[in-house]
Amino acid sequence: MVGKLSPSRASDFTTCPLLYRFRTIDRFPEPPTAATARGTLVHMVLERLFDMDAQARTPKAAADMIATAWQDMVDKDADYSLVLDNLTVDQWLTGCMAHVESYFALEDPRTVEPAQREAPVEVAVSDDLLLRGFVDRIDISPDGSVCVIDYKTGKAPAPAYEAKAMFQMKFYALVLWRMNGTLPANLRLMYLGDGSVLEYQPDEGDLLATQRRLLALWDAIKKCLETGVFQPRTSALCRFCNHHQYCPEQGGTIPPMPTA
Ligand code: SF4
Repeated sequence: MVGKLSPSRASDFTTCPLLYRFRTIDRFPEPPTAATARGTLVHMVLERLFDMDAQARTPKAAADMIATAWQDMVDKDADYSLVLDNLTVDQWLTGCMAHVESYFALEDPRTVEPAQREAPVEVAVSDDLLLRGFVDRIDISPDGSVCVIDYKTGKAPAPAYEAKAMFQMKFYALVLWRMNGTLPANLRLMYLGDGSVLEYQPDEGDLLATQRRLLALWDAIKKCLETGVFQPRTSALCRFCNHHQYCPEQGGTIPPMPTA
């Protein structure tokens, strides 16, 4: 069996093996939250902004497109409209637009020409493990150095959690390195919730360590698959988990493993 891991699924298993099972094997639906809807909308606006000619990428152009982008999301999945709670659409869009404005405070998109956006990446790192995902943006400098960029609509983590936040970026750097043979020079997380940037310059040792960690994680997942046992692991993140009715730690009952 060839397994596939994305940064999100790897993070799920690290957080709670049972959560990984619910998301990856049972594939229980999860309704959008205000945070996930905001993230999707802001990413969509930035993506469409970069579709425009460089000189047209202004804050006004972004403001002009946000309502249409939101409508496109709701047309595709009506559940998005539920995240507004008691906000009007205008209030919701104003809040989301603040994150887009925060982006403009960090860089002027008229001066940037990304090499790739929303780039699908995938590489095998062993006989039975594929790493894959989507990279928000890849910039390549005139000297050929590669910068991997991801937009976050939340706030930057406290210093103690920076390494955890950078794991996703090291994952992408590893995949790009294995795909292209070029070690990305810079990893950049742009936090639009508070207008801050977290950067890291990886070396080969970092990425080899990331690969070892992911292979060990895949070995642990395979053991769970063999036994059918995915243990719950409680943490502060349980309060955001959608699957309490299936979790013994929350008084629920684990359903039988789905048959293939
Ligand atoms: S509630 Fe917590 S322990 Fe239970 S499945 Fe969700 S994340 Fe895991």
